[in-house]
Amino acid sequence: MQTFDFDLFVIGGGSGGVRAARMSAQRGARVGLAEVADMGGTCVNVGCIPKKLYSYAAHYAEAFEESHGFGWVGKAPSLDWDLLKANRAKEISRLNGIYVQLLDSAGVKIIKGWARLIDAHTVEVGKHRFSARHILISTGGTASVPAVPGHEHVLTSDHMFDLSPFPKRLLVVGGGYIACEFASIFNGLGAQVTQIHRGEKLLTGFDEDVRSFIASEMRKTGVQLQLGTQVEAISQTSHGLQVTLKGGAEAVTVDAVLYATGRVPNTNGLGLEAAGVAVNAGGAIQVNEHYQTSVASIYALGDVTARIQLTPVALGEAMVVVDQLFGPAAGKKPRSMSYDFIATAVFTHPNIGTVGYSEAAAREKFDSISVYRSDFKALKHTLSGSTERTLMKLLVDDATDRVVGLHMVGADAGEIVQGFAVAMKAGATKAVFDSTIGIHPTAAEEFVTMREPVKQAG
Ligand code: NDP
Repeated sequence: MQTFDFDLFVIGGGSGGVRAARMSAQRGARVGLAEVADMGGTCVNVGCIPKKLYSYAAHYAEAFEESHGFGWVGKAPSLDWDLLKANRAKEISRLNGIYVQLLDSAGVKIIKGWARLIDAHTVEVGKHRFSARHILISTGGTASVPAVPGHEHVLTSDHMFDLSPFPKRLLVVGGGYIACEFASIFNGLGAQVTQIHRGEKLLTGFDEDVRSFIASEMRKTGVQLQLGTQVEAISQTSHGLQVTLKGGAEAVTVDAVLYATGRVPNTNGLGLEAAGVAVNAGGAIQVNEHYQTSVASIYALGDVTARIQLTPVALGEAMVVVDQLFGPAAGKKPRSMSYDFIATAVFTHPNIGTVGYSEAAAREKFDSISVYRSDFKALKHTLSGSTERTLMKLLVDDATDRVVGLHMVGADAGEIVQGFAVAMKAGATKAVFDSTIGIHPTAAEEFVTMREPVKQAG
């Protein structure tokens, strides 16, 4: 029988790769993991975690403002950007260390460097070659910037965490998760933010009500939103970066331009062709339902497969691969991954939380649906002076009474929607929602007290 250096060789130490490596090693497999940068990938280093920390930082601006209505007097403190950056960097390196420690203690051999496939069972890192029974590619994705004239002046989300100096005037290009989150965050931190998006509404794919509502709420917070607009060219002037816009809209001059126009799979220089691993038209690694690529011994998961680009999805996929390759944990059944009812949040100010179908998608999928919608001023804002409003929406399949879509724009929407996602995965009906006693006084109770549909059927 052929012998290998490793049972599993993982390329890429992001969320999915680290989880797969660690869990496989805990099941007794001999595992190697190659990572060229800090451990933890996008999520830990330049994504979810630092983004959320900065989002917390940004929320203090409104908290200080709103505190006056509750009797707090005095001037609000000002932001020390360098201190925030330093504290974030310290926390991220603590997390990098924890990831390394978890891998070490599970017995994973960490190999620092760029890994390249040589064939179906061989990986090269620097001058060393390793053989492995199975190889897992979990190299994630990277920001993609269109080739507009002057694109060399622009930043991507990777650069935003350590900007120096703080950009007093920021232009954000894009209308997706990253663009909306960074527009909100830098607006909260004190920058004058302009966000431009080529479409007429932000957040393609989200419920139409959510898309309109968040645009109006973001505008209220001070983000200058220009929809249906595209960049023509960017040039450096003595006053900053001058960005001219297509269609004769007025040019904007800013200190920094962030492009958040989507991400592409990280496959360059991986030796996919040499090993015969097929990619699709968008450059993502093709996998079957077992996360197996066109080469039977090579697997791929997470953003490099460009299915649903979310950390918890990569983690879920990793567990499925581990169970398949090395068996489930003692006493457990092998896991499978369901892509239905994956809850997600956009950490705009206010947050968006969503699970299930948008109204448009539900109308396509089901013969007849009922729509419940509530739009209100949260109790807190009766004293805070803020004009922020909250949107909640439920979509019900009339044939089964099952709640098939749940959407919220408002404070802590991500926290609130997570719990409802469990109920929806379990198939909760509107009758179950109705029989659930609310927690008073909360915003979340509105989800169990919406009695009359605003729209029905069709
Ligand atoms: P998205 O795909 O969400 O958004 C890309 C945006 O850029 C869209 O508004 C798109 O417009 C626009 N765009 C694309 N190409 C161009 C172009 N050539 N010129 C102008 N605009 C363009 O990508 P993101 O980069 O924001 O995020 C990537 C993924 O990361 C997300 O899909 C999400 O899965 C994940 N993510 C999740 C987060 C979370 O869970 N909170 C946070 C951040 C990222 P259009 O809509 O018209 O196509």
